[in-house]
Amino acid sequence: MELPRKILIGDDVIIQLGSFILDLNNKASKVAIVTGYNVQSRAGDICRLSANEASLENSWHIVTDASMDSVNRLQLSIQEYSPDFIVGFGGGRSVDVAKMAAFSLNKPFVSVPTSASHDGISSPFVSIKGMEKPHSIKANSPIGVLADTRLLAQAPTRLLASGCGDLVAKITAVKDWELARDEKNEYFGTYAASLASMSAEIILNQSDRFRHNNGFGIRTIVEALISAGVAACIAGSSRPCSGSEHLFSHALEYVAANDCGLHGERVGLGTIIMAKLHNLDWERIVKALENIGAPTTAGQIEVEEKDIVRALLIAQSLRPERYTILSKVKLDEQSALHLARSVGVI
Ligand SMILES: [Zn+2]
Repeated sequence: MELPRKILIGDDVIIQLGSFILDLNNKASKVAIVTGYNVQSRAGDICRLSANEASLENSWHIVTDASMDSVNRLQLSIQEYSPDFIVGFGGGRSVDVAKMAAFSLNKPFVSVPTSASHDGISSPFVSIKGMEKPHSIKANSPIGVLADTRLLAQAPTRLLASGCGDLVAKITAVKDWELARDEKNEYFGTYAASLASMSAEIILNQSDRFRHNNGFGIRTIVEALISAGVAACIAGSSRPCSGSEHLFSHALEYVAANDCGLHGERVGLGTIIMAKLHNLDWERIVKALENIGAPTTAGQIEVEEKDIVRALLIAQSLRPERYTILSKVKLDEQSALHLARSVGVI
């Protein structure tokens, strides 16, 4: 198992970034910080100050998208600098691109998320556009995670709601994993599965308390996302976190012409649909997503009915070896349409 060695969560912990890195390696002298323009202007100064105070030389690298091009460009500029750590400081894009570059360059990676929008903040998995595989792939787990809840609270609520979508997804991901255990004799990690389920349950049980983007909500959501990522570290695969609902989300990205929402928004819709296929209480999931302010219909993420149906039909083919409810229940156009309508997604 490869797990994060140090996790720090709290208001204003960003100022401790320098000492946090020295705690991980007291001989560190150089860090490469990968971020986006917005985050740099919002919190770059304090981050730089913290690194300088710890006598850590820091080079800054801006990424604008999570593509293979960005990863390659970043690798080239970081390689020469040869830092002791690569820090992903920002939302999903910065964290993913930095994690991938750190993996390729075999450098320790520190995750400093500024939005709680998905579980990649602590997992070894990355989603990069333009990769061979249409789903996330395994890199190394972050060696440290520093989550400043004050910075996270400043992110748009939509991102937080998306994070909750990625959390409820663990319900169907774990069900798919159980199915693979029962029908394909696949390895099943009870502990990792329980940890992931717990991250989802806390959202389902307390969704009404998350409405107002308060401190309680942020901390709970970020802890749940980190725990879910750690569940994937323990399992050594994305199984506890990603099942048919994620395949559906990847398929939607593939078929939809426009942006089709955020990762957690798509997997939230996928979870509603797959919960119905698993004979679970899908209405409870809809209720929780509504409470949080996450989308529960295709229209809310500007996806057309035909794309939902198409995504349902091709989802399993994106990853045939991952046995899920979509391998068991073979959908055709008519049944896919009926399914998505029956849960109100279309
Ligand atoms: Zn996810």
